[in-house]
Parts: sequence; C-alpha cells; structure tokens
Amino acid sequence: MTPLHHEQVPQGLRDLVVVGGGIVGLAVAWRAVRAGLTVTVLDPSPGSGATHAAAGMLAPVTEADFGEDAALGLNLAGAAAWPAFAADLTTATGLDVGLRTAGTLTLAYDTDDLALLRRVLALHAVHGLDSRELTLADARRREPHLGSRVAGAAWAPGDHAVDPRATHATLLAGLADEPRAVVVRRAATGLVRDTSGRVTGVPDAAGHVHAAGAVVLAAGWETGALLAGVPEVRVPTRPAKGQTLRLDAGPDLALEHVVRGVVQGRPIYVVPRAPGTAGVGPGHREVVIGATTEENPDDRRASAGGVFALLRDARALLPGIDEAALVDVTPRARPATPDNLPLIGPTDVPGLHVATGHGRNGVLLAPVTADAVVAGLAGTALPGTVAALAPADPARFHPTRTPTTSR
Ligand SMILES: Cc1cc2nc3c(=O)[nH]c(=O)nc-3n(C[C@H](O)[C@H](O)[C@H](O)COP(=O)(O)OP(=O)(O)OC[C@H]3O[C@@H](n4cnc5c(N)ncnc54)[C@H](O)[C@@H]3O)c2cc1C
Repeated sequence: MTPLHHEQVPQGLRDLVVVGGGIVGLAVAWRAVRAGLTVTVLDPSPGSGATHAAAGMLAPVTEADFGEDAALGLNLAGAAAWPAFAADLTTATGLDVGLRTAGTLTLAYDTDDLALLRRVLALHAVHGLDSRELTLADARRREPHLGSRVAGAAWAPGDHAVDPRATHATLLAGLADEPRAVVVRRAATGLVRDTSGRVTGVPDAAGHVHAAGAVVLAAGWETGALLAGVPEVRVPTRPAKGQTLRLDAGPDLALEHVVRGVVQGRPIYVVPRAPGTAGVGPGHREVVIGATTEENPDDRRASAGGVFALLRDARALLPGIDEAALVDVTPRARPATPDNLPLIGPTDVPGLHVATGHGRNGVLLAPVTADAVVAGLAGTALPGTVAALAPADPARFHPTRTPTTSR
C-alpha cells in the first residue's frame, strides 16, 4: 500500500475514522492500525486540548477518593495497561514517552492535612491498595529538598508518571510511519447516517465526507456537540478547566518522585521529568505543577489567582521551586461527565463508538481505552477488564436505554 502523506485526504472507504487527535483519539488510532485497520484521524489541531496541559500522573492509588469505587477499578486497569503500551510505542518508533516508575510521595503540610492523609491511607487499606505512612526522616531520604514545615508523609510505590506531550508526539510519529494511517488536520462537523440509521461517515469542515466502516468520537469535552443528528445517543461532556505550570529546574531541585500534597486542605502536585528532557543546561529538567479545577469554559486564559495558588502551595512543600524558571502556563479543559466516569465503547447506533469523558485521568486511561475500543470494534470485550470497564458503558446516558451498570 502506498503511504498517505499526512496532509493528503483519503478518498475511499476507511475501516475507521477517529474524530479527535488528543491522547485518547491517537491511542485508539494507534491500536486500531496495529490491529490491521485503515484509519483516518480528523483534528484541526491534534494535541492542543487537555492533553497539552496534562501533568501525566498515572496515579490510581493517590487519585482514589471516597465513594469513587468504580473509578478506582477503572484507574487500576488503566495503570496496568501502560507498560505494554509504552513498550509497543517505543519499539515501533524508537522514541521515549517519558515513563518514570519511581513511585509517589504524598505530603501533609499541617496537622489537619495529616489527619486527612491518614483517612485516605485507611481508605487505601480498605481497598487493599499499596500505600503506607512514612516517617519524615524516610520522606526526606527519598526527597532531600522538602520544606521544613511538613507534618507527615505517605508513600505509594505503584503510582507513576509519563510525559503526555512526548507520548502524543510519539503517537503522531508512529502513525506517520504507518501506511494504513492518516491524520487530516480538519474539524469534523457531524455524522453521516444511512437509511437504516447506521453511521457511515464524517463530514469535515472543508465539506469532504470521510466514509467509514466505523467512527470513534474522541473529541474531548466537545464530543457531545457532534451528536446533534443522533438523538438516540447522549454524551453529556462538559469542559472542566484546569491549569498546570511548567518549570525549568536546575540540579538544585533534583526531584526523583512525583510529589503530591495537601496544603491547608488544598491538593497540589509536582511532577518531575527525567533530567535532560527539557531545560537550558546539564541536569535541568521539566517540573510540572498542578492543577486548578474550575467549572469554567475552555477560554484558554490563565487566571492570576490560579497561578499564584499553585506556586504558593507547591513552594510550601518544596521551597527550591523559587529558584526554577517558570516557562509555561497551560490552561485547558478536561472532558468532564456528570458521574466523573468516561464513556468508552460501542453505542446503540451501529457504526458509532465513543471514547471520551476521561476527566482528570485521560492520560492514565488512554491505553486501556484504546484496547477496549479496538476490542469493541471487533465485537468483543477486552479480556480481564470487563468488570472494570462496565461503569464506562456509554449506554448509561442513552435516553432510551436502562444502563447495564450504575454507580
Ligand atoms: C490541568 C490538567 C492536568 C491534567 N493532569 C492529568 C494527569 O496528571 N494524569 C492524567 O491521566 N490526566 C490528566 N489530565 C486529564 C487529561 O489531560 C485528559 O483526560 C485527556 O487529555 C483527555 O484526552 P482526550 O484526547 O480525550 O481530549 P483532548 O486532549 O482534549 O483532545 C481532544 C481533541 O479533539 C479535537 N476536537 C475537538 N472538536 C473536534 C472536531 N469537531 N473535529 C475534530 N477534532 C476535534 C481537539 O482539537 C483536541 O485535539 C489533566 C488535564 C488537565 C486540564
């Protein structure tokens, strides 16, 4: 097969059109191509959405929250899928996705924060999760640059991090090398259906219709708006704005682990990349601080108060942050849903699949989502993850169906 250049628009029928080229859409496209399908990805600006802001924590344990058991099962399945996904991508492309498996340290700033941290550790114990309280001496042995006013610490050895921008760039490179894949930099404007109701293609903003055996909608928080002509399917995605900061840190801030914390009740995290992945000199590295959570639209404007609060709380735990250069402020909207769970898999409409609504954990969940969607395209379920993925059944919001699961 002659490879298509990335600006070329395929004319014939494709096995799959993926709408949205964020980390979720590209992961789906990648797994589909590797499964032998011909794939078109439509996105006017791939990777410019939530993926661009994400810190890249792969954190099923330290993200676990009270009353969120369904999310926990899904997040654990997401973490389990990452090593094989990263290895596959790196083997195929020779590029590094920045996966670091050093574990996560969580800090409590004052005694009230420590009381909360201990309640969370008790929740972890109920679920059999791998985490434990550390002495402050132990915490400082792991991260010598902790501030003097830290009241307590905990350790989650299985919570890791990856570089979402590097992963996205690697996915794009991998797809560019695949003759069966093409990324078309145009927006989708809706869906085309045949007389039986089956989805058969996607029109783009230039008026071209991309005919497809199946369509996966993975357009982040904007997915729901693409379903105006499909009343049987409801995808209630909304934007939930968040901001991250990127620092260029020198050897004085040689962080080795993800550091999370609670500072007077406010959550904060600091995610270091490997040295040499960014920065202006030897031993420099990118350090990401996050994140605000705001019920605001995707205006892509940073708020002064948000930036201030992130820096204030991060430097309370790690004072060395003061010396780093602030090089990037990234406000973007997470794809949020009413029950904080994603929608993954086939809908009731033949030919139409969805992969969206991943909220705070779309990087963590991208590989398992891709595997589940590709299994769904083949009409099967993903072995070993059926129970974990059940809460992500898109049917739970369909107006005409009783969902198979609820939470
Ligand atoms: C501040 C912040 C920090 C985060 N930190 C983490 C973290 O540490 N770990 C983690 O797991 N997750 C994190 N997340 C969440 C994660 O970023 C998202 O869940 C994930 O990026 C969602 O990926 P996506 O591909 O679904 O959406 P997006 O990355 O938003 O991509 C959607 C794409 O769809 C395209 N699109 C939209 N409309 C159309 C259309 N009509 N036609 C074609 N294309 C269209 C857009 O251009 C965009 O490229 C964070 C998010 C934010 C905002």
